[in-house]
Amino acid sequence: MISVVEFFKNLPKKKCHQCGQDMNEKADCYGNLCDECDHPAR
Ligand SMILES: [Zn+2]
Repeated sequence: MISVVEFFKNLPKKKCHQCGQDMNEKADCYGNLCDECDHPAR
């Protein structure tokens, strides 16, 4: 069984489509925007 750490290391790094900064895996459900660009108050 592959470990969770190995699984994420094999994934390509995601980047925000708006500002181009690296995204955390947790932002997946919001599409391709980082927390800054996807902030509802902005
Ligand atoms: Zn962004």
